[in-house]
Amino acid sequence: MNLLDANDRPGAYPDSWYAATVEQLPPFPPLTGEATADVCVIGGGYTGLSAALHLAEAGRRVVLLEAQRVGFGASGRNGGQLGSGQRQDQMTLEKMVGRDDARHLWRLGEEAKALVRDLVAKHGIECQLKPGVAWTASSTSEVHHLHDYAAHLRERYDYPHVELLDEAACQALCPSPLYKGGMLDMGAGHLHPLAFAIGLARAARNAGVTFHEGARVERIDEGAEVTVSTDAGRVKARHVILACNGYLGRLNGKVAARVMPINNFVAATEPLGTEAARVLTRDVAVADDKFVVNYFRLSHDNRLLFGGGESYSYRFPADIAAKVRKPMTEVFPHLKDVKIDYAWGGTLAITMKRLPQFARVAPNILSASGYSGHGVGTATHAGMLMAKAIEGETAGFDIMSRLPTPAFPGGPAFRSPLLVLAMSWFALRDRLGI
Ligand SMILES: Cc1cc2nc3c(=O)[nH]c(=O)nc-3n(C[C@H](O)[C@H](O)[C@H](O)COP(=O)(O)OP(=O)(O)OC[C@H]3O[C@@H](n4cnc5c(N)ncnc54)[C@H](O)[C@@H]3O)c2cc1C
Repeated sequence: MNLLDANDRPGAYPDSWYAATVEQLPPFPPLTGEATADVCVIGGGYTGLSAALHLAEAGRRVVLLEAQRVGFGASGRNGGQLGSGQRQDQMTLEKMVGRDDARHLWRLGEEAKALVRDLVAKHGIECQLKPGVAWTASSTSEVHHLHDYAAHLRERYDYPHVELLDEAACQALCPSPLYKGGMLDMGAGHLHPLAFAIGLARAARNAGVTFHEGARVERIDEGAEVTVSTDAGRVKARHVILACNGYLGRLNGKVAARVMPINNFVAATEPLGTEAARVLTRDVAVADDKFVVNYFRLSHDNRLLFGGGESYSYRFPADIAAKVRKPMTEVFPHLKDVKIDYAWGGTLAITMKRLPQFARVAPNILSASGYSGHGVGTATHAGMLMAKAIEGETAGFDIMSRLPTPAFPGGPAFRSPLLVLAMSWFALRDRLGI
């Protein structure tokens, strides 16, 4: 079974608050017969859309093949947080890759946020992009860690946008009994993820990209000219970009060994009206310090959009609302009886070290995926870096492809049970508070 079929109606967005509040594009036709292109992009999330847009703007003939609809995957379902830096914090990165590369990675992370802002402005994408992500901590030691980290960013990275939150400031922002303090990053932001994806698709279409939806790639035949086949057609292209992330399945074994799909869940409550102030008093997003991170913000119609809970199998749980209600009421006990109007799941890809996996899987086939829950900026940026690499400017792609992304133990066949064991252990530690 493939994740592309496991949990959703074919050719349709999930019943999310995002899909209910976005202006959808008319469907693009499926691929039939034979087409040619300079570049064939496989996958219509932020990675593929950004790559296609940048390549078309550089004058390339681009065909994008999307198995379902553009923005169908994680890009249309996520928490909408545009985080700073990389998924791993700078202190961890300095230990992992050394100070110089950590500094490059910070710079690339800043470029990723700027790219999202520029694309939104340049193409007039109405996706409610706003500043502010707070990191909240449920223990005093973690509050100290976040405050040290804020100082580190200010001193070593010249980054002035973080405010410290002591317990009173944290409670004034987010009155949850769970949190003891944290930091507020006003250089980070949040947006409507599906509106951003559809806005990118519209911009790419206007720049000349040929789109096919309902065009699931089943086979890639490598060579100086690559042949990309669906059940009804094929594209012959000089370059291919693989942008399938958590939905890749076995389309490419080299990538599949290093990235692993996991599922994460989001719920949208009924509008909270004046009660919204008991959740958040400012229009910023929040992420906490749990191993399975709780993340949330308010929608423009004052619903709580709450993300929490993970699963590691193909199938989503039967009752996603109940799955999310559990962590949601741990954070906000007073919401135990609130109505949940929408609940949905999405599949993302993680890597062993929670760093993205960029690879040249063949001389003319580039891949980027495995953003490990930090893809709003990073995936959009990855698309641009791959477009630049095809244009001969490889520096950014090369830095990212040097990151260590070892294969999961057990290989594609056994990685899942081993990961479930490891992840369940860390999630249990969260629950026991150890
Ligand atoms: C619930 C959830 C919450 C998240 N929250 C955040 C957050 O707050 N902040 C953040 O930065 N990141 C977050 N992420 C991660 C972020 O959404 C992803 O990293 C990012 O969207 C990845 O973009 P992508 O284009 O690489 O992949 P996707 O958006 O998943 O796109 C891949 C596309 O490829 C298509 N595809 C797959 N196989 C084929 C094939 N064989 N043929 C044709 N098409 C194919 C799929 O249909 C899909 O549309 C979250 C993810 C999830 C699931």
